[in-house]
Parts: sequence; structure tokens; C-alpha cells
Amino acid sequence: MISDNIHAVQSTICQACVRSGRDASAVTLMAVSKTKPNEMLLEAYEAGMRVFGENYVQELCTKMETLPDTFIWHMIGHLQRNKVKYIIGKVALIHSVDSLRLAEQIEKEAAKADVIQDILLEVNVAEEESKWGFTLENAGDMVRTISSFPHLRIKGLMTSAPYTLNPEENRIYFRQLKQCFDAIGNLSIPNVSMEVLSMGMTGDYEVAVEEGATLVRVGTGIFGERNYSK
Ligand SMILES: *Cc1c(COP(=O)(O)O)cnc(C)c1O
Repeated sequence: MISDNIHAVQSTICQACVRSGRDASAVTLMAVSKTKPNEMLLEAYEAGMRVFGENYVQELCTKMETLPDTFIWHMIGHLQRNKVKYIIGKVALIHSVDSLRLAEQIEKEAAKADVIQDILLEVNVAEEESKWGFTLENAGDMVRTISSFPHLRIKGLMTSAPYTLNPEENRIYFRQLKQCFDAIGNLSIPNVSMEVLSMGMTGDYEVAVEEGATLVRVGTGIFGERNYSK
């Protein structure tokens, strides 16, 4: 049952908070619902979930139109510039801002729609070839540059760590991103607040919480395995 899964994940988060001396209320659990039908999202909502993460623009738009407007939507997947217009001002947070050109496009569409769009910058901490994102080295410069865009508000950083069967292998990446997050926060850049550190998925969220995540993105751990063949 989805509600049992949610309670289990929440209790694992609480235990990780206790171990690391953190307050469990500082960690938001996001339900990553890509490929899952509305009925399952409603079940998760009834079990207390409010923030839902989606990867594909079309699927996200369909779900936003058909589910109650009390659902809070975050875009977490790679975003193509020509699709920005469909989600601007409708999603509470875009986690996957992974290039300056994408940030420029979001700025343009947000200006057109006359909204301020909250975003995170995605950092490819492990520098995997297959993944999008800024490097740890240029994240600070990118935050500075993008902070001058009047219709964007930078709320923090996001990473997807490498796929691994041993989550301890990702601890170093989570720790490095947390250091980067704190360092940028200490710069007190206008229009930038380092509030959201989005890291940790089903396989490694415990470690991410121990290392300072404020938002974990859990799909399989809540809804079960995904079937992409449908
Ligand atoms: C699919 C996805 C998740 C959730 O992955 P699980 O392993 O199912 O928890 C989290 N973050 C991003 C960016 C994803 O694409």
C-alpha cells in the first residue's frame, strides 16, 4: 500500500535526522510520480503527500489539469527550452535548471507571463557524462549570473547522484554539494536564498538526509517500480 510505503519512508527520514542531529521538519518528502496514474497520486495525497515531482512536460501538464489544484508540482526532469512556456508559473519549483541558456529561456517566458519563477540550479557533482548540470566549480558563478534575472528566484541546488547499489558511495557527493550550498548561502547574493537542497532518491535518501538534504525525491520507494513500456 502506498500509505504504508510513505510512512516507512518518513520514519526512515526521521531516524536519519536523529542520527545526524537534524530536525525532521527541515526535510520535505517529495513523491516522484512520473509514469504513475492519477489514482496512485490521489492515494499518496490522502496519505499526506503534497509535493509531487514530474519529469516530462506533457505528463506534468495533463496531471496538473486533471488533479485538484491543492497539489504542489515540481519539475525535476531535464527541461527542453521549447517546452518552458507550458509550465511557467504553474509549477512551484523547477529543480532542473542545468544551463545558462535554459535559465535565459525561463526568464523570457516568466517575463511574458508576468510571474516570478522559483528555480534550483542542478549540479552534476560526480561529473557523469550522461547527466546534465553545472559543475561544482562553476555553480557559484552561475548563481551570481542568474541572480540578476528579474523574473527568476534561485532557491537552492539540486543533484542526482550516480546510480549505485551502495549509497555510501554517494555520501561524498552529497557532502560536497552541501558545502557548495553553504558557501553560496554565505555570500548573501541579492535575490538568492539557499533554502532548498534537493538530493537523495529511493536508493540513497537516508545518506542524503544525513548530509543535509532539505528535500528528498522518492519515486520507487513510494509507488513501486516504474514500467516504461506502457
Ligand atoms: C525518477 C527520479 C527520481 C526518483 O527516483 P526513484 O529511484 O524512483 O526514487 C528522483 N529524481 C529525479 C530527478 C528523477 O528523475
